[in-house]
Amino acid sequence: MKPLLNRPQIYTDESVEGYMYRLAQANHREVSELELKYPTLNSEERDQFLVNLINLSRQNFSDANLLYNYRINRLTLPQWKENLYTRFCPKCLDKSAYHRIMWCLTHHTYCVTHLVYLVDCCPRCDTKTTIIDTVKGVCRCEYRLSLSNTESIDIESGFLTNEGEFKLVQSPFLMLKLTPTEQIKAIQRLLYCLLTKTSLEKLELSRKEIDLLAYGYYSDIKMLHFYLNFVRDLLKDWPS
Ligand SMILES: [Zn+2]
Ligand SMILES: [Zn+2]
Repeated sequence: MKPLLNRPQIYTDESVEGYMYRLAQANHREVSELELKYPTLNSEERDQFLVNLINLSRQNFSDANLLYNYRINRLTLPQWKENLYTRFCPKCLDKSAYHRIMWCLTHHTYCVTHLVYLVDCCPRCDTKTTIIDTVKGVCRCEYRLSLSNTESIDIESGFLTNEGEFKLVQSPFLMLKLTPTEQIKAIQRLLYCLLTKTSLEKLELSRKEIDLLAYGYYSDIKMLHFYLNFVRDLLKDWPS
C-alpha cells in the first residue's frame, strides 16, 4: 500500500477516527476511497487496519489513539459509532480543528485544558455535532463551531487530571479493588440506579434515555457532570 501524497501529522490526543477524515480531506478524497476497512470486534482486523493506516499516512500512532478500544470498555458515547456523534470544546477547536479522542468518552463532561463544559450540538441549528464537523470546524449549517458559547466549570468539581485521566475516588476499598476503568463503570452504574430507580430527581425519562443512562450518558451535560460528582462523593465514604 503506497503512502498518500499529503500526510498531516497526527496529534497525540487525536482520535484515529478523526484523523482518517483529516487524512482524506488533505488528499481531496472521501474516507471510503482510502481502502481502509474499519475494524469490528476482531483484534486481527484492528491490527490490520492500523497497519494499513500507518502505511498510508506514515504516522506513528498506537492503540491509545483508537476510539474503538475505548468502545470495548464501554466508555464511549453511545452513538459515536453509528452516527459519529461527538462532544467538543469550542476553545480547543479555535486553536486547531481536529478531533480529540477524549471528546467521545462519556465521562468527559468538560475540557481539561480550558475547564469549560463540552458542547454536543450546534448553537445555531441544534444539530448534533459529528467527528467530521469538528475536523471541518464548521457545522453543516456553516456555523463556525469555535464560536459556540462556553461555560466554565466550578474548578472544585473537576474529576479529571490535566492529562484527562480519571482521578480515583479516595476510598481505601475502591482504590484497592477497582481499576480506574472499573471505578468509572461503578460510578456510571450507581448514577443509573439513582436516576432511574429512585425519586432523587423527578426526571421524566423515556425508554431510550433510560437505556443510554446505563452507558453513563445523559444528554444534559451539566447535570451529568453534577451527578458524576455526587456519586463520587457517595462512594468516597464506602466502608473499607
Ligand atoms: Zn478546550
Ligand atoms: Zn448548525
